Amino acid sequence: MTTAQSPVDLGVEPTPLALLLLGREADPRSERGVECPGDLPSPSDPDLVERARAAKEKLGDKVFVLGHHYQRDEVIQFADVTGDSFKLAKDAAAKPEAEYIVFCGVHFMAESADILTSDDQKVVLPDLAAGCSMADMATAEQVAECWDVLTEAGIAEQVVPVSYMNSSADIKAFTGKHGGTICTSSNAKRALDWAFEQGEKVLFLPDQHLGRNTAVRDMGLSLDDCVLYNPHKPNGGLTVEELRNAKMILWRGHCSVHGRFSLDSVNDVRERIPGVNVLVHPECKHEVVAAADHVGSTEYIIKTLEAAPAGSKWAIGTELNLVRRVANAHPDKEVVFLDKTVCFCSTMNRIDLPHLVWALESLAEGNLVNRIEVDKETESFAKLALERMLALP
Ligand code: SF4
Repeated sequence: MTTAQSPVDLGVEPTPLALLLLGREADPRSERGVECPGDLPSPSDPDLVERARAAKEKLGDKVFVLGHHYQRDEVIQFADVTGDSFKLAKDAAAKPEAEYIVFCGVHFMAESADILTSDDQKVVLPDLAAGCSMADMATAEQVAECWDVLTEAGIAEQVVPVSYMNSSADIKAFTGKHGGTICTSSNAKRALDWAFEQGEKVLFLPDQHLGRNTAVRDMGLSLDDCVLYNPHKPNGGLTVEELRNAKMILWRGHCSVHGRFSLDSVNDVRERIPGVNVLVHPECKHEVVAAADHVGSTEYIIKTLEAAPAGSKWAIGTELNLVRRVANAHPDKEVVFLDKTVCFCSTMNRIDLPHLVWALESLAEGNLVNRIEVDKETESFAKLALERMLALP
């Protein structure tokens, strides 16, 4: 596990201020909850690393710290396990002796961990304001309204919802209730294959790009088979005919990090680095994915770099903390960031060492802070959707 910030130069410039501000304030309407109630240690406290280590040691097997791939190195060094959101939730469930699951990630991930772990395990998010802008783009009210639109168009019975893991517990529960499944970026094609066996159309939530890329790139559907449902417009901005003709109804959501990569970024890097392999995440826009050499989930990106020959050149289009860690792990390969500006996930980045120290010390003193708890009814329907994913062929 990496413990220090990287010496690797990925050739990126500072993030525009607006992007940094994205994760600044808590929004009570957002899935990310409210500001921390805590009395946080100062970021300049020189003993933060020692304090985190001492609190974790005091808690022993009672605590299990999960670190998402996009987390900062200063936090990742304390993770008992790293991975994507689904892997981490499963890892937590496989550790029933851990009473406290400290999730260094964002709100929807902590919810998923709570859904999959036992009632005795308590999931803690060190900063309650760590949400996901993509998950925020589909609220329970908007999705219920969309279902009404589909019902009025006379097609709801033909539609199977498929929701990306990056969605709130409410959206997962909606999916379970209406016969649908959850998917990750690794199994999206299998989820869509399954869904098209159950019905004629798919409502894909909340990431339009993952839905479109999987349908067109992996399943041979055309762009004309896909329509975009805009929750901010009456009837999603679509006519009844458009809805009836569509095979894929894509929710108008996207990841603010992966959505920043453009075709220009791909063309530019190919010009700068002849022979470069462009490797991107399927949350990127369709034209970026179509122009890339390799497309896949975070785990796929890590494995592809592991298997790549020494001396090969790679431009990677995903979150910067991960790219930096991958670059550090492979000094024998040339690894650059696909875009010229920095793309951190600003909300993921909220989990810093002061928040982690505060959470661990509070737990060590017997104070359960920042617990993420999904209500029983939501949990049971969300679990149904997750179990359908686990049962995918
Ligand atoms: S990288 Fe994108 S999808 Fe992932 S948590 Fe950040 S905003 Fe959400």
